Amino acid sequence: MKALVLHGPGDLRLEEVDDPIPRNDWVRIRVKRVGICGTDKAFYKGTYKLMKKPLIPGHEIAGIIDMVGENVSEPLIGHKVTTEINVYCGKCWYCRHGMYTHCPYRETIGITRDGGMAEYVLTRKDLVHVVDDLDFDIIAFIEPLAAVVEMIEMQRVEPFSNIAVLGIGPIGLLSIQVLKLFNPNKIVAIARRGSPKIKYAYMVGADEVLTYDEALEYMKKHTPEGQGFDYVVEATGSSKGLDMALKLTRPRGVVAAKSTHGSDVSFNYTLMVVKEVRIVGSRCGPFDKAIMLLRRGLVRVRELITAVYPLEKGVEAFEASFRRENVKVQLEI
Ligand SMILES: [Zn+2]
Ligand SMILES: [Zn+2]
Repeated sequence: MKALVLHGPGDLRLEEVDDPIPRNDWVRIRVKRVGICGTDKAFYKGTYKLMKKPLIPGHEIAGIIDMVGENVSEPLIGHKVTTEINVYCGKCWYCRHGMYTHCPYRETIGITRDGGMAEYVLTRKDLVHVVDDLDFDIIAFIEPLAAVVEMIEMQRVEPFSNIAVLGIGPIGLLSIQVLKLFNPNKIVAIARRGSPKIKYAYMVGADEVLTYDEALEYMKKHTPEGQGFDYVVEATGSSKGLDMALKLTRPRGVVAAKSTHGSDVSFNYTLMVVKEVRIVGSRCGPFDKAIMLLRRGLVRVRELITAVYPLEKGVEAFEASFRRENVKVQLEI
């Protein structure tokens, strides 16, 4: 099969590799769409060290089951699916306590084992979600949307909150939409001046789109005693984001940390302690809730796809994903 193989930072090649064959309770997905995620970009750039080399990246996967292992009796072949990416053991302390995404024995599709930037990808049958009623471009958003739902699972947002969302890439734009469902007072999106993505932030429901400096001014005027936002999403994908987020957060407020750029971060630790700010990380989330949001049309995702490339143009697609005008870049296979 054809696959995009990442050999090291900046070294992505289209290669012919062996077709994977599913064994036991594994199944094979004929990939139709796969999204390029911030984590993929960090691997490509080299800020996030590759955990498997070479690696076929890709964990925002949409496709059709075309082959199953000998222990799969479920009628999965021919169905449109996505797959969860944490292949957990099911036996360890974390798995038994419902924290299977933290299973220390897990493999992660597209991270520690080969992913979906190929004609075929293998997954285990229990990780598959059948979504025959959704289109492939939408299905490829289930994984990142689930990661945004996880942010709420890890740290609830109160109704009538003042919310700031730092960064208007895919995670920022999905966060605005999910947070909007919790009846906020205001959602302020924060972007670089002149960002071509500002229109998307308004489209998905931001009340204001401001620069960081403007947001600090806004905070002084429009939050209680000028002390900051209740809930601040850090989705900049940049090592500067956390310190910026802290300065926008009110005492006893929350920073929802969503960036996985892999770089070291320095931030005003004392400010965090003195303001009693909670910094809450969140990663992979519940696919069923993301699917529900998409089925009910509560989150707009198709509008966030700004470029689609064939697998053969994978390098161009990655380069395009770094351009400021692009929100979500997908590969079509
Ligand atoms: Zn991702
Ligand atoms: Zn486990």
